[in-house]
Amino acid sequence: MRLLLIGPPGSGKGTQAVRIAQHYGIEHISSGDLLRHHVAEGTTIGRTVAACIHRGDLVPDGIVMDILRKPVEAATRRGGYILDGFPRTVAQAQAAYRVAGPLGTGVRIAVYLTAGRRQLMTRLLARGAQSGRTDDTEQVISHRLDVFDAAAKPLVDYYHHRETLITIDGERPIDDVTRTMIDHLDQARRQLGLPEHPTPPQPIVEHPRDACRCSPRQPSTRTGRAGATPVPATHDKAPRSPHDGWTHTAAHGGHADEPPC
Ligand code: AMP
Repeated sequence: MRLLLIGPPGSGKGTQAVRIAQHYGIEHISSGDLLRHHVAEGTTIGRTVAACIHRGDLVPDGIVMDILRKPVEAATRRGGYILDGFPRTVAQAQAAYRVAGPLGTGVRIAVYLTAGRRQLMTRLLARGAQSGRTDDTEQVISHRLDVFDAAAKPLVDYYHHRETLITIDGERPIDDVTRTMIDHLDQARRQLGLPEHPTPPQPIVEHPRDACRCSPRQPSTRTGRAGATPVPATHDKAPRSPHDGWTHTAAHGGHADEPPC
């Protein structure tokens, strides 16, 4: 199974991606984690992107494509992946599609995790106080949410028209969100005729309501059922190029041509 998670910072993508990966026996690939690893290790990429992450701006597309290439290829060979934090823009989605589409390794299902701005801000400030992440300060969070908002609608539209898109209310308690997501993923998998689990499904470890990674002390406040809307896939209309690859595929050119952050 190959899927991706779209959602604003603080919507619970990381938490849910870990659980979904565990449940289906697939790899969890987080572009943010990979980038932060480079920063922590002081690699050339890390030094290039550190300021960008610190400001809450997006890292150049070519760099993101480069660091994702090997993990995505390896995960595809091992039975699938859930991408967390990629793509952030339609340009990234198109670049990924041009690479993965012809190889048959592209995503089949996109999940959109929603949450309101006030809730996101509360969660991220709580996370920042615990984790010390430099981009979890009020000013940077606000900018990151603006960056997400600017790209969200076209990105969600892109997947709505190309793949199965599932929209889930990420303000619900963490276990409800996981259960709803699995229900709808199973339904979508059946509709798409995807194979059953490569490994037996793993039981989901129940969390107390306040144990969300993004909101350690903030229980969800919204009530009502988690909304999930599977949308049947339609055929791809994206242009393709035989020269595209995970490297040098970004819509704005490979990272060699892009300005640093
Ligand atoms: P995240 O952990 O997903 O919140 O990402 C943290 C930061 O990493 C973001 O604010 C961006 O600076 C950078 N980043 C992560 N994923 C991407 C991506 N797909 N494209 C561009 N920048 C990204």
